[in-house]
Amino acid sequence: NNGYMGFVKSGLPALSPSHSENRWSDTSSYSGKKKLQYWCQLPNGNWALGKIVSTSGTESIISLNEGEVLKVNAESLLPANPDILDGVDNLMQLSYLHEPSVLYNLQYRYNQDMIYTKAGPVLVAINPFKKVPLYGNDYIEAYRRKSTDSPHVYAITDTAIREMTRDEVNQSIIISGESGAGKTETAKIAMQYLAALGGGSGIENEILKTNPILEAFGNAKTSRNDNSSRFGKLIEIHFSETGKISGAKIQTFLLEKSRVVQCADGERSYHIFYQLCAGATPALKEKLNLKHANDYNYLRLSNCYTIAGVDDAERFRMVMEALDIVHVNKKDQESVFAMLTAVLWLGNISFAVVDNENHVEPVADEGLDTVAKLIGCEVQELNLALSTRNMKVGNDNIVQKLSLSQAVDTRDALAKSLYACLFEWLVDQINKSLEVGKRRTGRSISILDIYGFESFDKNSFEQFCINYANERLQQHFNRHLFKLEQEEYINDGIDWAKVDFEDNQDCLNLFEKKPLGLLSLLDEESTFPNGTDVTLANKLKQHLSSNSCFRGDRGKAFSVSHYAGEVTYETSGFLEKNRDLLHLDSIQLLSSCKCQLPQIFASSMLKQSEKQVVGPLYRSGGADSQKLSVATKFKGQLFQLMQRLENTTPHFIRCIKPNSLQRPGTYEQGLVLQQLRCCGVLEVVRISRSGFPTRVTHQKFARRYGFLLLESVASQDPLSVSVAILHQFNILPEMYQVGYTKLFFRTGQIGVLEDTRNHT
Ligand code: ATP
Ligand code: MG
Repeated sequence: NNGYMGFVKSGLPALSPSHSENRWSDTSSYSGKKKLQYWCQLPNGNWALGKIVSTSGTESIISLNEGEVLKVNAESLLPANPDILDGVDNLMQLSYLHEPSVLYNLQYRYNQDMIYTKAGPVLVAINPFKKVPLYGNDYIEAYRRKSTDSPHVYAITDTAIREMTRDEVNQSIIISGESGAGKTETAKIAMQYLAALGGGSGIENEILKTNPILEAFGNAKTSRNDNSSRFGKLIEIHFSETGKISGAKIQTFLLEKSRVVQCADGERSYHIFYQLCAGATPALKEKLNLKHANDYNYLRLSNCYTIAGVDDAERFRMVMEALDIVHVNKKDQESVFAMLTAVLWLGNISFAVVDNENHVEPVADEGLDTVAKLIGCEVQELNLALSTRNMKVGNDNIVQKLSLSQAVDTRDALAKSLYACLFEWLVDQINKSLEVGKRRTGRSISILDIYGFESFDKNSFEQFCINYANERLQQHFNRHLFKLEQEEYINDGIDWAKVDFEDNQDCLNLFEKKPLGLLSLLDEESTFPNGTDVTLANKLKQHLSSNSCFRGDRGKAFSVSHYAGEVTYETSGFLEKNRDLLHLDSIQLLSSCKCQLPQIFASSMLKQSEKQVVGPLYRSGGADSQKLSVATKFKGQLFQLMQRLENTTPHFIRCIKPNSLQRPGTYEQGLVLQQLRCCGVLEVVRISRSGFPTRVTHQKFARRYGFLLLESVASQDPLSVSVAILHQFNILPEMYQVGYTKLFFRTGQIGVLEDTRNHT
């Protein structure tokens, strides 16, 4: 049907009739047509195409294209789009916009390596899990010259650059998606485009080299992704007035430090440990007393040392080269490697009982000696820090000896802190090197690569924080899309109040309300010395049960209704992870070390504790560091992030993982659908459907349907013709709005006109 095709291809916005909202498109009215196909949901949840054979009452017999014949409820059938719409590059162009049609369209494109598709203003990127021929200088050049308009990260980045220059407004590219969906790769692709267009000074190369460094120290192999980022990252890239990159600034969020001391079977700790063990020169190895990866308990626990297709030794050389480029000098590099080795040896320190009260002391062996040497302290000082705790009771100092589990916890806490401090220090060094010069104009493009919404069988404190962050981002996303819509309506003078909108404020309130919100209650319980996972769960249930987004679960669990679905959290470990204690003894140990890095770490820890106070436990205990809880610190970071993003024009990229095997060419419908829901692609659709998604200029409308008029109109101007058409077809006033230049329609309203036109 050529007419139809012409209409779609003419670049008109969505024609997106919804069968539920469209009073002309109930299924029966189509039964006379030969070719119309339907999506039918199979018992396994997948959708298959078929044709209706017969309909009686509410039941239809459907013959699937694959051969099967099924009897189904007519309501569970959804009309399929005509073939001509197969693989449209913007989902807004689909006539029928529902889950199966979106799934099918994305799959159709994915099968041809068209991994990018627009969903309205949002870019959807499906991970190809293989090299696709879409990148490099030729493509960059094509997008720069605008000689192609296929959806692409380059296109989004190009728009960001143009809008930054045109509007003199900072821009942000917000990338989300679940683990393994391709966020970090997408961020790098965007950075490459920025470097190509804004390069010249050489700083762009430094910026690109921060990626291998941060990936070495902040990424690890997990069961979901061989190169999983275990931290969130915002990189702000600054531009000079002439559009050249002048510097950059990196902010990181919530590094998963528990991975340093333990990780699941088949996973690895941070890449850098294996790279160091595999790639250090013999001289360095000797100097640090560095052994093989499988000599270290922390690395041995998960029984996984290598990643298929990855040469850790080679990667180590690349990291060293990158460190050179971002001006971390050789001496500092060696200190970094010494700290890493110290962390590894810490894990090998074991304890032996030394009295009849089961108190322990570290065994005097190679591990203890090496750690002391690497951080620059006396063995005896290290021994004391790992086996005793100084307590202040009244005016007296009491030395408490530690049990085995207390000593192990102290050792692990020290290892985690050393690593986390090292990571932060490294980011600081990189930032100093990338610091924006004096000619800063304040214009920037920020790229956010942050962990997506997570819902596992078992969800803990990490998921709690991650999902909270995603609620915040989702609100930003909604507000922005809403605003975009609003602007177009206002510019065209239509009545905006008629577009309704729903947000996730209730869920955010559940987290943030004081004093009775999840975060406040968690912090309060964290300050009670006797608080446990059970008392926390009970407290939440007691105070939050009336909140519609909260549900108390059996035992120590509770559930939250997130925008992306309900998640049940186990409170086990919440308090401990939220407190994240490092005893003052350990901090004092570090500050007394002869080496520079431990001293720097100690003073930054002390600085934190001075500024930040969780509550009574830390004050009355006296000897432990007073510090802000992890959740509260994270919330602060998040607020700061949102403030920064609010001042930018955002561009959204939603990454999708097509299968959980990290394999090319495999598209699991259920998995994709769940992500489409989670990362709000269907939400974008919903928002646009709640408004007037079909927009046609008066001229186009008059030209296209004018010939259908039964009576001639006195005035031949496009608006009069258009209004006459609307009247003749009895389109209800609440279904459209007349703007200065365009007509705005609710979804589906154009359908009857198209039908009539095509059959005339
Ligand atoms: P996490 O949340 O765990 O950090 P992520 O969303 O950042 O996950 P990536 O590390 O970017 O995921 O991608 C996982 C893997 O998928 C990559 O290591 C790469 O092999 C592959 N991949 C992702 N995007 C692309 C792409 N555009 N082209 C080719 N391969 C890709
Ligand atoms: Mg990543």
